[in-house]
Amino acid sequence: MVCLLISEVELKLRMQVPPKPRHHALKRPYSPILKKQVERRVAEWSPQNKVNLWEISGQHEGDMLFHNFGRNGVIKKSERWPKGIIPYYITDDFSEEEKHIILDAMDTFNRKTCVKFRPYKKGDKDFITIVSQDAGCYSFVGHLDRGQVVNFQKQCLRHGTIMHELLHVLGFFHQHSASERDDFITINWNNIKKGNENQFGKNNTTNFGEPYDYESVMHYSTLAFSKNKEPTIIPLRDGVEIGQRRGASVIDLNKVRKMYRCKKLKNNRLWRKKIHKRRG
Ligand SMILES: [Zn+2]
Repeated sequence: MVCLLISEVELKLRMQVPPKPRHHALKRPYSPILKKQVERRVAEWSPQNKVNLWEISGQHEGDMLFHNFGRNGVIKKSERWPKGIIPYYITDDFSEEEKHIILDAMDTFNRKTCVKFRPYKKGDKDFITIVSQDAGCYSFVGHLDRGQVVNFQKQCLRHGTIMHELLHVLGFFHQHSASERDDFITINWNNIKKGNENQFGKNNTTNFGEPYDYESVMHYSTLAFSKNKEPTIIPLRDGVEIGQRRGASVIDLNKVRKMYRCKKLKNNRLWRKKIHKRRG
């Protein structure tokens, strides 16, 4: 049972419809045939599957879109959401119940960090539009101007998967592509499906002073892009598991707080209000 504290005002605001987003996946690099394949793979996915949904969504590293291919992984200030506010619009591709699964994931960020996902309202220049009009689950990485699409094929409507995509929205890449990853994992190139080697590149990211996080919901699973059901990613530490899909880890949330300077925002009205609510 999903429990949410959304005021009626917010629900009404949610009805405001933004213009067509400027950034969407129409220029995606894959063919209609691959789209069908992705659609089928995702539809046939079950929780017993060791590979994560976002790893089979047919985009770069599974589920990331870029408005400018080849750019570096560093998240510039302009790629973060101003004041940590992310206006959203959820289309009627989703039922009320499905919308609440998405809202519940947003609510986790709203409660545990200073970022605020809130309904789109007239006058918002930048926003995310959440649709279910394409194969797979995917998002752009970070904040773009004049609207950007997040797509969830219906099978993607799981708490951890939504949090994973929302972390992309906030500006995070996959953990396994972090610049320091070779100290923590081995990439087994021999087991990677031909043509997918570029899914295992490294980004010049910042980790905000947080340690490499095997527990991250942004970490790929050990069988990601495997051609033979043998591991493609092997943790260098014994006994750790990678590729969890339950939801954001402690360190994932710490990174959000640091990226959006939650400490500095403490005097921000929204953050104060939230603390006040929590105490109350
Ligand atoms: Zn992803």
